[in-house]
Amino acid sequence: MQKWLDIAVSAPAHSQVGGLLTYVTELPAAVGQLVRVPFGSREVLGVVWGVHTSPPSSLSTHTLRQVTAVLDGIEPLSANWRQLVQFSAQYYQRALGEVAMAALPPQLRDLTPVQMARRLKKQPASTESLAAALQSPWPLSSQQTEVLAQMAAATGPFLLHGATGSGKTEVYLQAVARCLADNPKAQALMMVPEINLTPQLEARVKARFGDEGVVSMHSGMTGPQRLKSWLAAHQGSARIVLGTRMAIFASMPHLKWIVVDEEHDASYKQQEGARYSARDLAIYRARLEGAKVILGSATPSLESWHHSRPAAEGGRYVRLPMPARIGAGQLPFVRRVDMNHQPRKTVLSAPLMAAIQERVAKGEQSMLLLNRRGYAPVLHCADCDWKSECSHCSAFRVFHKIDRTLRCHHCGFTERVPRVCPACGNADIAPMGRGTEQLEEHLAELLVDVKRPDGQPVKVMRIDADSTKLKGSLEAQLAGVHSGEVDVLVGTQMIAKGHDFRRITLVAAVNPDGALFSSDFRAPERLFALLMQAGGRAGRDAAQSANSEMWVQTFHPGHPLFEALKKHDYPAFAEQQLKERLEAGLPPSTFQALIRSDARMQSVAQAFLNQANAQLQSALDMSANDAAALAEVSVYPAVPMSIQRVANVERAQMLIESPSRKALHRVLELLQVQLHASRSLPEHKGLIRWLVDVDPLAI
Ligand code: ADP
Ligand code: ZN
Ligand code: ZN
Repeated sequence: MQKWLDIAVSAPAHSQVGGLLTYVTELPAAVGQLVRVPFGSREVLGVVWGVHTSPPSSLSTHTLRQVTAVLDGIEPLSANWRQLVQFSAQYYQRALGEVAMAALPPQLRDLTPVQMARRLKKQPASTESLAAALQSPWPLSSQQTEVLAQMAAATGPFLLHGATGSGKTEVYLQAVARCLADNPKAQALMMVPEINLTPQLEARVKARFGDEGVVSMHSGMTGPQRLKSWLAAHQGSARIVLGTRMAIFASMPHLKWIVVDEEHDASYKQQEGARYSARDLAIYRARLEGAKVILGSATPSLESWHHSRPAAEGGRYVRLPMPARIGAGQLPFVRRVDMNHQPRKTVLSAPLMAAIQERVAKGEQSMLLLNRRGYAPVLHCADCDWKSECSHCSAFRVFHKIDRTLRCHHCGFTERVPRVCPACGNADIAPMGRGTEQLEEHLAELLVDVKRPDGQPVKVMRIDADSTKLKGSLEAQLAGVHSGEVDVLVGTQMIAKGHDFRRITLVAAVNPDGALFSSDFRAPERLFALLMQAGGRAGRDAAQSANSEMWVQTFHPGHPLFEALKKHDYPAFAEQQLKERLEAGLPPSTFQALIRSDARMQSVAQAFLNQANAQLQSALDMSANDAAALAEVSVYPAVPMSIQRVANVERAQMLIESPSRKALHRVLELLQVQLHASRSLPEHKGLIRWLVDVDPLAI
């Protein structure tokens, strides 16, 4: 019998179809099934979203095309999965089909039904038992026991606010283990910000639960690996999925637990396509599936902190504190070096150098944090004031001494360093400012005469995006730190995250002041989190924790942020920041979205946005509800983005703000209609694209 199917296919981002197209078929097909359908001149993957036994009245049925094949070897995607996709598409303002297809592994889209059938045969049978899961190697700390009891007793969502080294990971593993033991089908999703940075965690989860039932999902995997993991999760044979933000869309029919580790981390927000926050979707999905969810961090995002205020004040999450480190380990003692009292142009102050030398002599490790890679951020001619600008971006190219290049960190444009100033011919062009490469070089010079206890010279190592470009190099570098071969580690924020280093007793932030006075209202929050995380790498071995130190070189030693850091007092910092945000009408007291447009000319990019807004504000045929929504929303005039031009594309943005999330979303929808309508007008010639960012992290 003939049926009419609504099918989600990957339609171009801004097409009006919303990603659902109607096809006909005589084949047996159910909602949630994967199908292959003709689309233009190609054949593509689709997901059945609706089945009708009579033709939808609005369509001229003779033009409808036939479904090519139904992938009936694969179980249909669940109603919950489809709801998650539908919600994400609506919330983040993208086409349903685009979100659905992006949520599936690429190979699923590319393989023919015959190839697919072969893959399915190879899947291992479902494993019902997890090897030795529940055995913890240690007795739990009283904090851990208390937190686990609270999690068993309540429904959540939970915010685990645990100091670095308080044993949060152990709490996740125990909670997951209990859940899987209670229900032989239950599945758990564990998300981490960047899996490559924490290979240890993967090892720890597999060691605890066995290789069989654990699969990974992240962008570093090959197509076949991702498909294999996806199928194992979809079929239920994978009991644990360990992944990055993309894993939030994994098809897991028996999902019962979601863990979001380091929930404050910005990498949970996708930066292209549907700009979803995997952390926020975790909360939504848990409610949808009737699963429990725990967000964990030593420095929660201010949004999550706000949500976990007491219920009487409107809080919705259960806050679970674990302030103490495992085994009576202490948090590092924070020392501030007042750089106003150091000789001009000091990079590493004398007291800090003395402390590092002392550690080296004792066979302990130190870690220096500088959030800027390369040798120097700018190359400069003192004669004519030439600077190493990028010709394609409104930004400077960074000087990399190692291969003597000038590299743009925005568009990638790379050139050999010029021998003389390109503007005036002066041979004396010099680096301005400092990056990790220079710090590594400088440090090695300062430590040249210092010996390790074994008589060997000091080894300094740098870890950043440049040193870890080659596959396997990060692992090798980290191994060098763990084995004790390295004495001083220099790096960007990459080294501050999650690592369970056992021999580091000194951490220093070399030059963190920039973020104190940034125009980005989230900069202090990010700096505080980074410094707490970095400090958390020191003294993780309880036996050495008593002499562990966190050094901060600053021109503003009395700044409240550093005062709070000194006391390891995240709550005090968070309350002070929240108060400022509420007074200034910033998130989380208000909701924001950005519409960004890219064009050949800045004026076109701005006019496109402003005109859509002007048309919306003056529309005469608006419903009373829409008019009410519009009255609750502020739409600001378009402005150039802070980095206005990247790769010869001019970028403008329009900020939209409202205390009502509902009103904000309605106005976004209305604005998008205007944008669609006006994109082909002659005055917008040169427009490249526009995109919407709901709950943007940077403005
Ligand atoms: P966090 O995630 O809070 O930074 P971890 O879970 O990594 O902390 O724990 C810090 C260290 O303490 C790890 O090396 C871990 O193996 C160890 N650990 C965790 N729980 C216990 C416990 N109950 N007893 C002893 N050691 C523990
Ligand atoms: Zn010059
Ligand atoms: Zn550039």
